[in-house]
Amino acid sequence: MFKLKVSSRSNGKLFHCEKCGNSYTYIRCLKRHMLACGKEKRLTCSFCSHKTHRQDHLNLHMFHKHNIVPQAGKPIKEDN
Ligand SMILES: [Zn+2]
Ligand SMILES: [Zn+2]
Repeated sequence: MFKLKVSSRSNGKLFHCEKCGNSYTYIRCLKRHMLACGKEKRLTCSFCSHKTHRQDHLNLHMFHKHNIVPQAGKPIKEDN
């Protein structure tokens, strides 16, 4: 049997990032966060101060906000 030790449910956030202290309700949210948190890879838009952790997000941003088509050669997807 699995028993998860959880802290008090006072704020409903049960999972905490050890690096930055962000807390999440679901473990999958924490895991997703820790991928970005661990890498600290921060991409900044060349045309404004927009920041993101993901290259595809930056590509989408540049496409929609600045009409710049990224040179990566990958098709831009609207969904996620
Ligand atoms: Zn973190
Ligand atoms: Zn921008």
